[in-house]
Amino acid sequence: MKYLILVGDGMGDLPLPELGNRTPLEAANTPTLDKLCQKGEFFLTRTVPVGYPPGSDVANLSLLGYRPEEFYTGRAPLEAASMGVELAEDETAFRCNLVTLDRETKDRVQLIDYSAGHITSDESKQLIDALEAACATERFHFKAGISYRHILVVKGKYPALETVPPHDYIEQDVTPPWQRYMADPEWQELLSKADAVLADHPVNQKRVAAGSNPANGIWLWGEGKLPSMPTLHERFGLQGSLISAVDLLKGLGVNAGLDILNIPGATGYIDTNYQGKVDAALNCLKTQDFVFVHVEGPDEAGHQGLLQDKLQGIEDFDQKIVAPILQGLQERGEEFRLVATMDHFTPLSIRTHTDNPVPTILYDSGEQHKGSGLNFTEKNGELVGSKEGGTLPDGDTLMKKLLQQEQ
Ligand SMILES: [Zn+2]
Repeated sequence: MKYLILVGDGMGDLPLPELGNRTPLEAANTPTLDKLCQKGEFFLTRTVPVGYPPGSDVANLSLLGYRPEEFYTGRAPLEAASMGVELAEDETAFRCNLVTLDRETKDRVQLIDYSAGHITSDESKQLIDALEAACATERFHFKAGISYRHILVVKGKYPALETVPPHDYIEQDVTPPWQRYMADPEWQELLSKADAVLADHPVNQKRVAAGSNPANGIWLWGEGKLPSMPTLHERFGLQGSLISAVDLLKGLGVNAGLDILNIPGATGYIDTNYQGKVDAALNCLKTQDFVFVHVEGPDEAGHQGLLQDKLQGIEDFDQKIVAPILQGLQERGEEFRLVATMDHFTPLSIRTHTDNPVPTILYDSGEQHKGSGLNFTEKNGELVGSKEGGTLPDGDTLMKKLLQQEQ
């Protein structure tokens, strides 16, 4: 038996007046998802535990079968894992954004840009190397990642502080969180040194001359220690792979003990290399039991508030991921059980995530007699979800249901 989880990130949405009060998933042409939903089981899954922020980290951890209450330790350690940074037991990873700050007004800090103008990896590598050369100590080390997304590794106990994600403060006053760092002598020393390195760096001089936002500050957040998760092999005997363009997902996959398949041309947007993902998924299932395929496009379109792109992202997920994978498995005469779902909603009207339980299809190639008869929509999800047993409490339950290992 082969097992698949296919995820259209952020596909879920709310009814929109411009679609005649339908959601993008209702309006989009999704013949394969609808067919699987009609013939398969259909229910809701609670991917975000009550009280947790509905991030892709928490929600996809759930979809991989882990209860966030037991295993979620923060976002940064997952990204560190995807970058090949191995954390020791006494180390904590912080996400270190290169950001653009405005400090023109005395005693006030304004965040201009959480991404320093989506600085290139080539430029940011020079800056992170300079920070490591000037600021590293036994306690602090900088690790260069992609674009504006880097990691600071802190050894030993560190002064506790409440951190905030910079993308929640675009063009806002960040003086209070900034002052929390500066109240501690050790953080103050690190951040002041970092500011001095970034202020005069030729990379920033060039960016300013070209009219781009300079990376004139670092912003630390998302901290956590290495999660200690049993792998999916240890838990269920599963050998598998994960396919995604997104570092965070790759980090989750590393921690779950999955092989990470890097697909050339996977962009994390609706122009991604769909065929490459399909080929890789079908190929790994020749030798492995399990594959997790993640497509980021619908979520990005949701954040950007782009209706047409969201519709396109959903249709592409249906027609360029789900349909050819299904066809490939059927052509090989493979027996399989397949979950098709999303990690969370990313409604266009609010451009951020919500914690709604997610509509979930479970299709078994061998059993077609207990189909839901319903199309794959949020509204139908609510319908089945309100019934006895129609909402799974967490991803752990979903994984055991997929694997038919329910107690
Ligand atoms: Zn997501």
